[in-house]
Amino acid sequence: MDGLKRLPIEAPDRISGIAALAFNMWWGWHPEARMLFKRLSRAEWKLSGHNPVKMLTEIDRKTLDDASKDQDFLAHYDRVMERFREEVENGGGKWFSQNVCDPEALPIAFFSAEYGLHRSLPFYAGGLGFLAGDFLKESSDLGLPLTAVGFMYPEGYLRQKISLSGWQENLDEPLDRAGAAISKVTDEKGRPLLVKVPVIEPPIYVEVWKIEVGKIPLYLIDTDIEANDPWNRRISAHLYTGNIEQRLRQEIVLGIGGSAVLAAMGLRHPVLHLNEGHPAFAIMERIREGVSAGTRFSDALRNIKETTVFTTHTPVAAGTDVFPFELMEKYFSPYWPALGLDRESFFDLGMNPADPRAGFNMTVFALKCSSHRNGVSKRHGEIARRMWHSLWPGRPEEDVPVRSVTNGVHVPTWIEPKMELLFNRHLGEDWKSRHDQPETWEAVRKIPDTELWNTHYWLKMKLIMRIMERARERWIENGPDARVVLAEGVFLDPNALTIGFARRFTTYKRASLVLSDTERLKRLLNNKWMPVQIIFAGKAHPADDAGKHILQQVFTAASDPAFGGRIAFVEEYDEQFAQYMVHGVDLWLNTPLPPLEASGTSGMKAALNGVPNLSIPDGWWLEGYNGKNGWAFGTTEKDETKNSRQRDAEDAAALYDILESLIIPLFYRMNSDGISKGWVQVMKEAIISAGPGFSARRMVKEYATKFYEKCLLAVAG
Ligand SMILES: *Cc1c(COP(=O)(O)O)cnc(C)c1O
Repeated sequence: MDGLKRLPIEAPDRISGIAALAFNMWWGWHPEARMLFKRLSRAEWKLSGHNPVKMLTEIDRKTLDDASKDQDFLAHYDRVMERFREEVENGGGKWFSQNVCDPEALPIAFFSAEYGLHRSLPFYAGGLGFLAGDFLKESSDLGLPLTAVGFMYPEGYLRQKISLSGWQENLDEPLDRAGAAISKVTDEKGRPLLVKVPVIEPPIYVEVWKIEVGKIPLYLIDTDIEANDPWNRRISAHLYTGNIEQRLRQEIVLGIGGSAVLAAMGLRHPVLHLNEGHPAFAIMERIREGVSAGTRFSDALRNIKETTVFTTHTPVAAGTDVFPFELMEKYFSPYWPALGLDRESFFDLGMNPADPRAGFNMTVFALKCSSHRNGVSKRHGEIARRMWHSLWPGRPEEDVPVRSVTNGVHVPTWIEPKMELLFNRHLGEDWKSRHDQPETWEAVRKIPDTELWNTHYWLKMKLIMRIMERARERWIENGPDARVVLAEGVFLDPNALTIGFARRFTTYKRASLVLSDTERLKRLLNNKWMPVQIIFAGKAHPADDAGKHILQQVFTAASDPAFGGRIAFVEEYDEQFAQYMVHGVDLWLNTPLPPLEASGTSGMKAALNGVPNLSIPDGWWLEGYNGKNGWAFGTTEKDETKNSRQRDAEDAAALYDILESLIIPLFYRMNSDGISKGWVQVMKEAIISAGPGFSARRMVKEYATKFYEKCLLAVAG
C-alpha cells in the first residue's frame, strides 16, 4: 500500500523523478543526492533547513524549468537517479538474500517509539531514536526484509530556548506536515486509512503516515485525527509524555495499534523486533491474533516467543515503564478474555518477581515473551543479566538468556563528505561497500598526516563558523541581551584544543562534571600557550528539572567572563548540529556514571571522523578503547562505600589529571608544520577501530545472524 506523495508543483518531465527522490530519506546518506538539491538552489536549500520536500514545495517553477535545460544539472541528476533506482527501486542490497535467506520467507516488523532520521523529521529524543534510524538505513543497504512502525508526533520533541538565567524553556514547534517527507497511507478508495485499536475500550482510532527510508517503509501512527475525542487526539502529541495514563495509552497505540495497522495493510510479519520496551504490547496483539484464530494461549505464546527479538536499552530498573495494575485494568479488562486468560494470569505476564506489587512492567513482559533478548553493549549485556536474574532464578547469572549486540552507527550517514573524499582517495573508491571489514581501514595509517589534519581543521573551522552564524542570528533576534549570545561561543578559537560534549542533559551523563573544580578548570582553559575550549549542546527532557539544573550550571559557566569565553553552550541540539559537532571538535568527552551508559553512540560518530574519545570506561567504550585510539579515565565499578559527590570529585580529578599530563601536551607537541604527529596518530587509530567495529553494518549483520536467522526455523515450522 502506498502513500500519497503530494507536491504543489509538478517538476518538468525531464526531471520528474526528483519528487520521488525528495520523498525517500535515501538522499540523506548519499552526498551526491544532497548536492543535487543544493545545486538546484543554494538559497532554498538553506532556507528549507536541508529538507528537499519543503524546498520543492516553496521553489518557483522557473528554477525547475531552468534546471531541466541545464546540461550539467541533468548529468548530475541522471547519475543520482541511476544510483537511486539501482539501490532502491530495483532490488537493492543483496547481503541478506545471499547470506541469510530469501527475504520473502522472513518479513520482520521493527517497532520503536522514536526514530532519528534527519532534523526535518523531529521524531526523536536521543540515542535510542538514532539507533533505530541508523538501523533502518543499514537494513536498506543490506536488503533486510524489514517494515518499521513508530509514532507520528505532530508537536515533535521540543525546540530549545535558553532564558537569560540559563533556564531551558520548552517551546513546541508543530510539525509542518506538508513540508515533511511523509505521505498519508490511503485505503483502496483513496481515503486515509483509518484503523481502530483492537479490543481496547474506550475506542481509539489511528491514521497512518509513511516515510521511505531507502527500501524500508516506516509507518507512523497518528492519533491527531477527526475520529478521536480531544484526549485521544493528544496521545501522540509528544514523545515520552510525563502523564502516566497518557503514556500507557501511547504504548497501547504503538504496540496494539501498530500491529493492527500492519494487519490492515495486509503486511504479514512473522518476526517481530522490539527496540526497547515501549512497543511491547505488540507481542500481546500477536498472541491475541493467534488465540482468535483458534490456538490455545500457551501454544500461541510459544510460537510468538520463538520469533520475537527484544532489545533492552536500560541499565537501571527504575528506567523501565511500569504501569499500575488499576490503570492497566481500566484499558485491558476486555483484553485478557480475548487472550483466554483471567486477570491474575494476565498481570502475571508483566509482574517483576523482584517487585511484584509495582505494576505491569513492560521490560519484564517483553523478556518473558521473547526468546531472543539482548543488551546493547557487552557490559550492558552483563548488567541486564544481573538486573533480570530474578526472572530465571534457577540459573547462574551468566546463563541468564540475555545476550548482547553492541550498537553501531550508520557509516554513510555520519561520515563527513570531505572526510569521505579523503577516504575515497586512500582506501579505494569502493571502501563504503566493504566498510565493516577491518582490512579496509588499514590504509588509514598511510594517509599523510597533513592531509588528515587539514581535512579535520577545515571541519573544525566549519563548526566554529556555524556557531558564529547562529550567534549572529541570536544577536539580531535578541538585541542587547548579549549574554545569551556570548554564551553561544563567539570567542571560540580554531587553534585551541576543542572538546565537545553534546547529548541529552540527564543526570547520569554528568555534563557538569568537567566544571566541578572551577579554579583548576580556569587554569586549564585560560593557559595562554596551550588553551583549551569546551563546546556543550543538548536538551533536557521537558519534565526533567534535575537535567535543566545541570544545563543551567553549564550555561552559567559559559556566560562567566572568568572562563575567558572558552566555554560555549549552543542551543537547539539536533541531528544537523550533531553532525557539525561530531565532525568538528578535536576531542569527544563522555562522563557518564557507570554503569548507566548502556552503550552511547555519539562517540562512535566522532571516532569515525577522526575525533578521539576521552571517556569514562562505560558502555561501548569498555570494548572500544584499545589503549591507542583515545583515552579512558575515572572509575568503572560502582564503589558502594562512596557517595555520588565523592565519586564525582574523584572522576573530575582524574579528568583534569589526564588532560594536563597527557592530552593537552600531546595536542600541542607540534612539528614545524604545525601538526602534532602524536595526535594525528591517535586520530588514525580512532578511525581504524570505529569504522568497522562500531558500524551499524556490523550491528545489523549480527542481529540477522544471531537472531533473525534463528527465527526462520520457527517461521518455517
Ligand atoms: C547520536 C546522537 C545522540 C546519541 O548520543 P549518545 O552519545 O548515545 O548520548 C543523541 N542526539 C543526537 C542528535 C545524536 O545524533
